[in-house]
Amino acid sequence: MDQNIQEEEEILDEKQIQDKIRYQKIQQEIQESQDRSTETLQKMKLTFQTINEVQEQARSTVDNIDNFQKTFSITMDKLLENIGKSLVSNSISSSEHNPKTAQEITIQQAKQLITKNTVLLCGAGLSQASGIPTSIEQNRCWIKGQSSYQLQKLKTRDFLLDQPEIYWEWHKQFKSQTQDKIPNAGHIAIKNFREQNPNVLIVNLSIDNILTSVLGSEQIKYGYFKEIYEINGNIQYMRCLYECTFQEGELMTVYDIPNFEQNEIPKCPICGAKARPHLLLLDEEILDENCRITEIQDQYSKCDTIIVIGTALQTHFAKTIVCEFIKKKATIIEINPEPLIEVGNTFWLKGKSEDILPELFY
Ligand SMILES: [Zn+2]
Repeated sequence: MDQNIQEEEEILDEKQIQDKIRYQKIQQEIQESQDRSTETLQKMKLTFQTINEVQEQARSTVDNIDNFQKTFSITMDKLLENIGKSLVSNSISSSEHNPKTAQEITIQQAKQLITKNTVLLCGAGLSQASGIPTSIEQNRCWIKGQSSYQLQKLKTRDFLLDQPEIYWEWHKQFKSQTQDKIPNAGHIAIKNFREQNPNVLIVNLSIDNILTSVLGSEQIKYGYFKEIYEINGNIQYMRCLYECTFQEGELMTVYDIPNFEQNEIPKCPICGAKARPHLLLLDEEILDENCRITEIQDQYSKCDTIIVIGTALQTHFAKTIVCEFIKKKATIIEINPEPLIEVGNTFWLKGKSEDILPELFY
């Protein structure tokens, strides 16, 4: 019996030892597994840290790019503004750095300077003899009853959106001043010149329809003429205020302005919304869609002579085109009673366009 007990105890011991060993093994495995997990966690932590760092770097890179772009854009704007200022202030008027080089010549001398690649830049002075007031002659304000409106503010899209009745009332009155006016000798001379020189580029700064009615026959779209570029639009036409038929790269659709009563606003024939005049308002940009600006620039870049006729060079476009010709040392002929362009390869014909043009283009 004792022996049996002893044997049993030995078996039990043996079992316990084995259990212990197994237990230790499991323990070890658990430990190893834990160690591996810890290691994995550690690695993941590092990975996350790296991801965060990368994200942080990316974020700061984006911030840096943003800041760079902002700074770059401001710098470029300033640079362009300064170039613009120097062009306007130094290149048209003479100064200490740009001494006066313009000289007065006779019409006969001017005839020799005209080439096949000539631009005619026509201003409001051309229509003065037909009885249309230039912008300088117009009052700075429009008086209506007790109210006075500054034209600088009135001729803007902002004003048109804000007070369309007032805007259209003024427009109607202004348009009536341009009606039934007949072409003068200057307009006729340009028509004759174009007939002899079909390649001449004619850019009109005036919004009256006189030169257009003398020249224009072939329309590329209703209200846009092949023979003349009307950079500031034409007082005869209107468009939808919201350009409901607008298509990029295509000229905007224009309509005749109907006869309308006072305090009435003409409407878009397509969508019935308010209409707007087909004029470049003072707070608007020149676009290909409203005046074919790219085509004009492309054409005048090939020209070597510009004849500037009766303009006070008040608009950005007029100044820019003259400055381009000064920069490329091309020939500039200015016809004005009091010429303004003092620098560049510039020649003055002092006088009125209706007196000079018939002789110059004869
Ligand atoms: Zn419309």
